[in-house]
Amino acid sequence: TTEDDAAGLLALLRSVPDHPAPGVTFWDITPLLGDAQALARATGALAEAARALPGGRIDLVAGVEARGFVLGAPLALALGAGFVPLRKAGKLPWRTVRQDYSLEYGEASIEAHEDAVPAGARVLVIDDVLATGGTASAACTLVQRLGGELAGALFLLELVGLDGRAALATALGGAPVAAV
Ligand code: AMP
Repeated sequence: TTEDDAAGLLALLRSVPDHPAPGVTFWDITPLLGDAQALARATGALAEAARALPGGRIDLVAGVEARGFVLGAPLALALGAGFVPLRKAGKLPWRTVRQDYSLEYGEASIEAHEDAVPAGARVLVIDDVLATGGTASAACTLVQRLGGELAGALFLLELVGLDGRAALATALGGAPVAAV
């Protein structure tokens, strides 16, 4: 994105103070999603960032429930890739592989179907916001456990103060990170 594009998209994110807990500023993407032009620009910018990642082809986009689904499906279409949902525990109907991880308060898990990633497929992980990096790290680890090769991790927004990139580095094992 150009600086103007990024600033225009940023202006459509709503910052909600003290949600979901005191002291947390939550970045709400629903105003952006509800604006037809902004949604197209955001999806286009994500596709551009994905194409600019080193390493070449992307076979699958893996989106983290739930906002990673909304951004990930149009991104997959734009890239000519398939889509893999990484869901909260207990939602998928068939046999799953589960990855547990720690949140600031408590624990969480994500799951994927055990046949979701063909051996050696190159997979791009996407979510709306990179905060501490815990969720994205779990997503990247899960993709690798499923037999995928990480093409990278992509976000609409990175909260740079939280050092999510540093936390994510181990799980990425050298694969690139980008934020629009
Ligand atoms: P983390 O695991 O801390 O990197 O958190 C990332 C996940 O939580 C993503 O799925 C985000 O959508 C969500 N998230 C965490 N912090 C925020 C925030 N301040 N604003 C919006 N979403 C957030």
